Amino acid sequence: MAIEPVVVHAIINGEYVPTENRYPRENPSNPSEIVGYGPLNTREETIRAIDAAEKAFHTWKNTALDERIERMQRAIQKIKVQTPELAQLLSREHGKALYDSHGEFAVSLMWMEHACNTVKDVLKDNVQEHGNGRTIITNDPIGVVSAITPWNYPISLSTIKIAPALLAGNTMVFKPSPFAPLAVSLVAKIIADEFPPGVLNMVHGEAEVGVELTSNPKVGKIAFTGGTKTATSIMKAAADTIKHMTLELGGNDAAIVLSDFDVNDERAMRRMVISNFLTAGQICMIAKRVYVHQSIYDKFIEKYIETANKWIRVGDPFNPNVTVGAVNNPGQVKYVQSLVEEAKKRGGNVTPLGTILDPELFEKGYFLQPTLVTNVDYNDPIVVEEQFGPTVPILPFTDDEHAISLANDSIYGLTSSVWGETEHALKVARRIEAGTTMINTAAVQGLDVRFPFGGVKQSGIGREYGAEGLKAYVETHVINIPKNPELPYIPE
Ligand code: NAD
Repeated sequence: MAIEPVVVHAIINGEYVPTENRYPRENPSNPSEIVGYGPLNTREETIRAIDAAEKAFHTWKNTALDERIERMQRAIQKIKVQTPELAQLLSREHGKALYDSHGEFAVSLMWMEHACNTVKDVLKDNVQEHGNGRTIITNDPIGVVSAITPWNYPISLSTIKIAPALLAGNTMVFKPSPFAPLAVSLVAKIIADEFPPGVLNMVHGEAEVGVELTSNPKVGKIAFTGGTKTATSIMKAAADTIKHMTLELGGNDAAIVLSDFDVNDERAMRRMVISNFLTAGQICMIAKRVYVHQSIYDKFIEKYIETANKWIRVGDPFNPNVTVGAVNNPGQVKYVQSLVEEAKKRGGNVTPLGTILDPELFEKGYFLQPTLVTNVDYNDPIVVEEQFGPTVPILPFTDDEHAISLANDSIYGLTSSVWGETEHALKVARRIEAGTTMINTAAVQGLDVRFPFGGVKQSGIGREYGAEGLKAYVETHVINIPKNPELPYIPE
């Protein structure tokens, strides 16, 4: 039975704004099925949304924190109730397996709740009585925030911004990615409906919308997650009006497997495989290149293939046996295929992994069979580029120094992982250039919303999650009440 397409609209000043111009979003597992439509908003509509956010800010910034928390808690409860339907919609428009969509909702809600529970403590005034009187340091909201997000984790990467920004007293205009616009727009609507008009606005669209969101003088901050190249354009657009920025960008996360890693530890090997292929490898923080000590390399590869063949079952996101769904879009399929093909031409060995559960569906949809690539140079594009799909190169290293230099030889530094005896792994971990390094696990398996997340080098600027993820939406405001307000060295 065909399911009715879901039609979402822009939200401007508390109202759903129907648009004639719209774009379709297809189902990546079955591209002839249109899952829904998003609006193609214009520059004028974007300006209206920014103006509404700016107007709302003057009142919203003065509301009591208790009220903001209460409103956010109500939205959280409504999202919770609707999660089963929303997760299904996310899988249909995104291509990821249903358990994976549920996981995304669980993490998003966990963060929103954590933000509500900690915001009072994190943003409270810091009052200091000292030799020269009293100083009060307050955390003031910045103003209008433009939030721009990618398609791979649309719910997490939007709520990671919306919750702290609104709790801190900012208003927002949010733009989701056209490659997974539907479930996140319904989530944004649930949240927007719990807040006064103009506090949370949403527009969809292409370059002109993005450019307005990042250059409009009324926007005080940009919270962006996406590709490093896009971030370059955003920084340029924002430069003229010196905007605050949090940038969560690409990564090429290294996993280092030390000589004392136990290749017979089946759970650890399973965690490794998951850290390469969850969400068909389309996660910024997936382990995208694996370096294994030469003394255990052959055994590791043998066990890895064995484990991957057990865990990877590619197919319909709604089949409960499926662990790896479709790739999100044909561009991504082509890009990953070309990296693998080119590596093969240069002498790389390509091993297909796992089972394709439904070959007919596989042919129809944007599916890729996961692959392991070996026998490639350290500087092969499949090793140095962010492949963002279901393939992983595994290469040997000679000693710890070699592994550390391979891991750090990258323009990126998002997350990383070290696998082996804990103290040994910790020593190596301290020397990795990354925002997060996990020991004996990787990717979202080691993610904890209580602690800051973000990248170094070209993987980004700033942090989300944790106390830093709340402080990213405030300005420090120092109020000084000196006992001796005159400086002694200034002449009468
Ligand atoms: P993308 O950069 O192509 O798009 C991200 C968003 O930016 C989309 O909403 C897009 O419409 C918008 N956009 C495009 N051009 C713009 C412009 N000139 N001005 C303003 N907005 C513009 O990224 P993508 O393909 O959607 O996502 C994949 C990338 O995101 C990968 O590189 C991945 O590593 C990265 N990512 C990073 C994190 C992180 O936390 N560091 C998390 C998830 C994804």
